[in-house]
Amino acid sequence: MALYVKKFGGSSVATPEKMLNIANRVLRDRKPGDKIVIVVSAMGDSTDDLLDLAAKVSDVNYARERDMLLSTGEQVSIALMAMTFKKLGVPAISLTGPQAGIVAGGGYGKATIDDVKPDRVFKELEAGNIVIVAGFQGMMPNGDIATLGRGGSDATAVALAGAMHADMCEIFTDVDGVYSADPRHVTGTIKMKEITNTEMLEMARLGAGVMQPRSVELGMKYHIPIHVRSTFTDEEGTIIREVCTMETRDDTVRGVAQDAHAARIAVLGLRNIPGVAYKIFSVLAENNITVDMIVQSVRNSNDDKTDIIFTIDDADLSDAKRVLDAMRDEGKVEEVIYDDDTAKVSVVGAGMLGRPGVAARMFGALGRAGVNIDIVSTSEISISCLILRKDLDKAVQAIHCLLYTSDAADDLTR
Ligand code: ASP
Ligand code: MG
Repeated sequence: MALYVKKFGGSSVATPEKMLNIANRVLRDRKPGDKIVIVVSAMGDSTDDLLDLAAKVSDVNYARERDMLLSTGEQVSIALMAMTFKKLGVPAISLTGPQAGIVAGGGYGKATIDDVKPDRVFKELEAGNIVIVAGFQGMMPNGDIATLGRGGSDATAVALAGAMHADMCEIFTDVDGVYSADPRHVTGTIKMKEITNTEMLEMARLGAGVMQPRSVELGMKYHIPIHVRSTFTDEEGTIIREVCTMETRDDTVRGVAQDAHAARIAVLGLRNIPGVAYKIFSVLAENNITVDMIVQSVRNSNDDKTDIIFTIDDADLSDAKRVLDAMRDEGKVEEVIYDDDTAKVSVVGAGMLGRPGVAARMFGALGRAGVNIDIVSTSEISISCLILRKDLDKAVQAIHCLLYTSDAADDLTR
């Protein structure tokens, strides 16, 4: 007897037929006494369709109303999913995020899950129901619905699993696990049986689309193992857990991540005095804009002006433009240049720590592929390069080939 939280993404619940397949699979795998909570996303591309609808009404982001609109997508899925089970003669009940006790904080549009109070979910499980919960939404302290950022249903599933001390959180998706690079863009990728949550967090943060970074963080916080696997096959996927049980620790590099959504901003001609960078980044933080790679340029040492270049998610570009153009208009900076043709490629692996040569190999692969590097940033377990977006696929492929084929060893000794 075990408690499972199973999350199915938008492509997995895109049609009533697919919902029926899911229901049959869940019932087939359920052992006597198992308790099942299912978290679902909105059907297919319906979140995008709702966003398009909102854009037709106004290009202003009315954040509260937009969340009200977006949260309906998941509500369609839970109701239809519950009906599907009922039709099969199995007791089931749908619950919205607020009904399931998902307490959201922060702001509309990218709210965090601050608490989970799953009393109702437990009660419905006790009553013999399969409980179907709407992903991507929670209730703010003021009673409003807020959404959790794109891909946020993963976070719902992991947080629920954590709060309910589930035995496993399963993320069913259209890929069958976590690969050494995105198999849709790169050939020769390897599926990982296991990955540590630190590595997965870094991969997700750097653009591996399989899981939303925040949900990986929640998995760490609650010590919940997460099984990422395919909706469409029975094959085992990849298990994200604290410590890998297998001998994978020696892999210097675990994966190559790509992020096509990095936008580059150059703030030019700032006064070269203490506190200036603080001013820029605090204004961005107040506006909920996360800054990623940062470099401050070295002009002449006696120059009284300096430049700061950094990257953000391109979804935040128009917000950033608004605040930084205002600073320019007030004369606080001379010029701001926005560049949306950039992308980020990264290598990730805990085994890289303290091993020289990974950066050199990465830069070598990019150089031979004719890809220019604009900015480099590193963390303890990753190295990232900002490049032109048009070069992204080429860059990932080149780095992946170098690191994962037998030639890699040769290359090191060359
Ligand atoms: N439906 C939401 C989205 O498309 C949440 C999710 O899919 O996890 O971003
Ligand atoms: Mg979706």
